[in-house]
Amino acid sequence: MSNCIFCKIIKGEIPCFKIYEDANVLAFLDIKPVNPGHVLVIPKEHYENFLHIDSRHLQPLVATVQKVGKALVQAMGCEGFNLGLNNGVVAGQVVPHVHFHIMPRRAGDGYDLWHGREYEAGQAQEVADKIREAL
Ligand code: 5GP
Ligand code: ZN
Repeated sequence: MSNCIFCKIIKGEIPCFKIYEDANVLAFLDIKPVNPGHVLVIPKEHYENFLHIDSRHLQPLVATVQKVGKALVQAMGCEGFNLGLNNGVVAGQVVPHVHFHIMPRRAGDGYDLWHGREYEAGQAQEVADKIREAL
């Protein structure tokens, strides 16, 4: 898509620190990393979000996330990483070209994720039923 910043990166119109590239996928450093080594993995085809992506392109995308994750652990000496995918504006998606975040984590780096809240009585059953019915 012509006005998409990630499509411009794919075309080389905007520079990036490239980590990996093949026919389907590009991985590059996030410009504002959560920690050094924060990588974005994107399909070369423009899909707005995770629900739009063709299954043909999903498999190589996820395989690349794993490949780069392994390299990150080895190269950056991080103890683990968080995978992120902000799906939709309400979830924090700013760039409307689907992308996985691979965010290296280190002990004491100060990030405190997933502030979970308990279900109310009966709510978990209701929610699980609803989702299962939609599958
Ligand atoms: P989102 O919030 O859409 O999940 O994440 C978009 C990510 O893209 C952000 O983490 C942001 O730092 C990164 N980003 C935005 N513009 C650029 C850019 O021009 N180059 C690179 N390398 N990363 C970018
Ligand atoms: Zn795009």
